[in-house]
Amino acid sequence: MLIVMDHGAAKPLVDTVVARIESLGFTPQAIPGGDRVAIGVLGNQGYVDEAPFRDLPGVRELIHVTKPYKLVSRDFHPEDTVVEVGGVRFGWGQEPVVIAGPCAVESREQVAAAARIVKQAGAQVLRGGAFKPRTGPHSFQGLGFEGLEILAEAGRAAGIPVVTEVMRIDQLERVAAAADCIQVGARNMQNFDLLKETGRIGKPILLKRGMSATLEEFLAAAEYILLAGNSQVILCERGIRTFEQALRNTLDLGVVPYLRQLTHLPVIVDPSHAVGKRALVAPMAKAALVVGAAGVMIEVHPEPGAALCDGPQSLDAAGFEALMDELYRLRQALVS
Ligand code: PEP
Ligand code: MN
Repeated sequence: MLIVMDHGAAKPLVDTVVARIESLGFTPQAIPGGDRVAIGVLGNQGYVDEAPFRDLPGVRELIHVTKPYKLVSRDFHPEDTVVEVGGVRFGWGQEPVVIAGPCAVESREQVAAAARIVKQAGAQVLRGGAFKPRTGPHSFQGLGFEGLEILAEAGRAAGIPVVTEVMRIDQLERVAAAADCIQVGARNMQNFDLLKETGRIGKPILLKRGMSATLEEFLAAAEYILLAGNSQVILCERGIRTFEQALRNTLDLGVVPYLRQLTHLPVIVDPSHAVGKRALVAPMAKAALVVGAAGVMIEVHPEPGAALCDGPQSLDAAGFEALMDELYRLRQALVS
């Protein structure tokens, strides 16, 4: 429930409401910003009875929140959250960020080359998977902790922050120590125990939408992380599975402006996993910026034909440079 106070309600009145919330065993959450003083009620498992609040002085309105998420919602947090990844800022209305790099860390040389390509072309964050969630067990599974070190080293050498995926709770501490941002992939979006643990880590989290997740489920997954104490969460639309089989996934771009209404968390788009075909990555990356995404994540490989994972959707150096150039020119047009 949201308790909206009269405009300019004095502090003692707000304190009384806070005390009443606590006396009922719930947790009060001050809601900053705007011209509205409001207090959120957290920790209830069901409907919150209005009676203890209805007649308290200064209370203007009681709003029941029926959604499975509160902390991620604009109702509870009207102002945009800006997530900082090694000094790079992600947020609604901020300059869009480009994350780029290979699907998987394959070798020191491959990641170093990829890092040089993406840095030189102007990307701000390097990506690369050390732990790879592959559909079949015969596919390359990633270099694990060795890959993590290779990625971190390449990021340091290139002077850019790195993001990499965590698959299990027991990897989390070492991933957090090596990476500037921790990715929770589509397949783990509803691994609730993992989400809770990422909430206890003081590093930004990049949460990808599950391949069959509704928007409500996506936001409820992010809620786990915020509720556990970490509000540095970037959401990533990466395509969903629909009846349409022509492309790898169906990029659900309409959710970007819709999420801007629903949540204060930044939203980026991963066109690479959405379309699965190299030639379609650039147009959809541009479309993502047009609809207001806070950034894009692009798979780039120094030699896509030799990639151990997702080669067909990976851009090479020339392709990525061309895309960055197009994105730059698009930005000039959008802000002018
Ligand atoms: C990835 O980004 O490396 C990845 C595996 O993507 P997704 O979880 O969206 O499939
Ligand atoms: Mn991939």
